[in-house]
Amino acid sequence: MKYDIAIIGGGPVGNYLATLLARHYKVAVIEAKSSFGGKACTGIIGARSYEELKLPKKAIINKLRGAVFYSKIQSFEIKRKEPQAYMVGRKILEKSLAEMAVKRGAEYYMNTRFLGFKNGKAVLQRFNNRFEISAYFYIGADGVNSKVAQEIGAKTNAEFLSGYEVEIVGEFEKPDFVELWINKELNKDFFFWVAPINESLARVGTFGRPDTLFNFIKIRMLKETNIIEFKAGNVALGVRKPWIKGNVALVGDAALQIKPLTAGGIAYGMYCAYALAYSIINRKPWEYERLCKEIKREISFGLKVRRLFKNLSQEQVEKLFELLSSREAIEVIENTAEFDEHAKTIKALIKHPKLLARALKVTPMVIRYIL
Ligand SMILES: Cc1cc2nc3c(=O)[nH]c(=O)nc-3n(C[C@H](O)[C@H](O)[C@H](O)COP(=O)(O)OP(=O)(O)OC[C@H]3O[C@@H](n4cnc5c(N)ncnc54)[C@H](O)[C@@H]3O)c2cc1C
Repeated sequence: MKYDIAIIGGGPVGNYLATLLARHYKVAVIEAKSSFGGKACTGIIGARSYEELKLPKKAIINKLRGAVFYSKIQSFEIKRKEPQAYMVGRKILEKSLAEMAVKRGAEYYMNTRFLGFKNGKAVLQRFNNRFEISAYFYIGADGVNSKVAQEIGAKTNAEFLSGYEVEIVGEFEKPDFVELWINKELNKDFFFWVAPINESLARVGTFGRPDTLFNFIKIRMLKETNIIEFKAGNVALGVRKPWIKGNVALVGDAALQIKPLTAGGIAYGMYCAYALAYSIINRKPWEYERLCKEIKREISFGLKVRRLFKNLSQEQVEKLFELLSSREAIEVIENTAEFDEHAKTIKALIKHPKLLARALKVTPMVIRYIL
């Protein structure tokens, strides 16, 4: 079978890309799973990104307009009048995008695994049947452990993290606020999140070890026996290069287009998919990486802040909380915060002379990692 474009991986990014390309080209999507969804993912996407990318409204299961940050001993709240982020059901999101792509002419190979390239063709396996398809252009949207990336020899020095997440029944008084808990004594490398779906159901997770999550669940006064779903999955924070080699490109988690501070990858992956589609439609695929330069900049800034975060002690976290809960800091955050653009807010905070002076007192590492 000959296609113009073969997309390996029908996750949110691969399916979104298929909707963009299927109007112009004969597109195949190869997906290893037999149905959509199922991946560990809280499904939080910035509201502005969601609207800009024109993603399906029916996938939205909750709207969040603020966040409460907790350390070991204190907390502060950031809020807006309008929703800043949406929580989505991954299955509905992926399936609606696939449905749209098929309506535009894309052909899906479900339950079909990409095994590698041979003589310019993609070797696939469905059950015991091994077969080949060929395309003028191949795109690896096959997630963090991308086989396509491996096939083109892409290299990475990323930090691979295991994520654990549960859906749990409890009482969540503020269903439009996400909770972020930073307790280095429980988990030195990542925060815990409590993302309500409604007043009585939330997604709770962290990156690290599963026992850490269960300890947090106890501390958050939730009941382990109220867990109704448990999921695990990986992310990788870092850089994987190149994103394009010959007639093969990587996109989404396969290219590590992931926010280093929250490990969210759906929005960045989709923005880059848009850039990739644009460069292909304009017959200049080599422009793809240049078109993603803002996202590259965000990722590289985020990686620096992550290094700083990992080096902080809980005592320093407490001091930072005192700073961030000050009136000046809250004002800066509430005026600049954009869910999918962390650099903007952090830069605005350190441009504020008084806040910078206080941050330097907490840790001079601010100079080394951020300035
Ligand atoms: C615990 C956890 C919570 C998260 N929460 C959020 C969040 O709130 N917001 C957010 O934006 N991101 C979140 N993420 C990250 C998010 O899940 C990823 O960034 C997102 O899934 C990337 O989409 P993708 O389409 O690039 O890759 P994936 O979703 O990984 O999709 C890749 C697809 O490729 C298929 N595939 C893989 N190998 C092959 C092969 N050889 N042949 C054929 N098909 C193949 C897979 O079956 C899969 O369907 C979270 C991740 C974890 C682990």
